[in-house]
Amino acid sequence: MKTIGIIGGMSWESTIEYYKYINGEINKKLGGLHSAKMLIESYDFEEIEKLQSSEDWNTLTKILINSAQKLETAGADYIAISTNTMHLMAPEVQKNISIPLIHIAQATGNYIKNNNMNTVLLIGTRYTMTKPFYKDKLKNEFGINVILPSLSEQKIINDIIYDELCKGLIKENSKQKLLGIISEHKKEGAQAVILGCTELPNIVKTAEIPVINTTKIHCLEIVDRMLK
Ligand code: GLU
Repeated sequence: MKTIGIIGGMSWESTIEYYKYINGEINKKLGGLHSAKMLIESYDFEEIEKLQSSEDWNTLTKILINSAQKLETAGADYIAISTNTMHLMAPEVQKNISIPLIHIAQATGNYIKNNNMNTVLLIGTRYTMTKPFYKDKLKNEFGINVILPSLSEQKIINDIIYDELCKGLIKENSKQKLLGIISEHKKEGAQAVILGCTELPNIVKTAEIPVINTTKIHCLEIVDRMLK
C-alpha cells in the first residue's frame, strides 16, 4: 500500500470524512485489520479563510506548496488537497513536488464521463463557482457543460458553507434552500449536481437529480491509487 499525504483542515468537518472514507475503503478492499497509511497536515481554517477572503492567493500558494513538500519529505507517495476551492493552487503545488497530486476535479470529471452525463450544475464556494480553475477544467478536459447558480443563489450557497457547514452546523432550512436551488436548475437541463465543496455532502444526501459527491469520488480515487 502507498502512503497518502492529505492537506486538510479546510475545514476539518470534511477532512474527518476523508479520514473515515479512506480508512473504510482500504479495509473493505484488504480486510482484516487493514487501514490506510496516511499523513495529514491540518490547518487552522480561520487563518486560511482570512487569506481567501482577502484574495491573497500568493500566500496560500506558498502555504500549500510548503505542506506538500513536507508531506513528500515525510514519505507520502501521493498528495491530495481535501477541498475543491484550494485546487485553485493545485497546478503550482504539482510543479513544486515530485510525487503526483490526485486532483479532485480530475476524479470528478472522470466520474461524470463514466456515468454518461454531460450537463451538470456546479455548487460550491464562490471561488469554485466563479473562478475558472474548476469549471474550465471540466469543460476543456472533459467536454462537460457546467451550469452555474445565479449570483443570488451563489451567495446563499457560499454563506451556508462558511457560516454553517465549516462550523459543523447542519440546518434543515439551509438544506431546503439548497434543494430548491438544485431543483430550479433541473428545469434548465442539469442532469446531476456536483457537490463541489467537500462539506456539502454533510447536508445534501439526495436531491431531485443525482448528486455527485466530490468528497467520496476523491477518496475512492485516492484509495485506487494507493493500492495500485
Ligand atoms: N471545503 C470546501 C471546498 O471543498 C470549502 C472550504 C475551503 O474554502 O476550502 O471547497
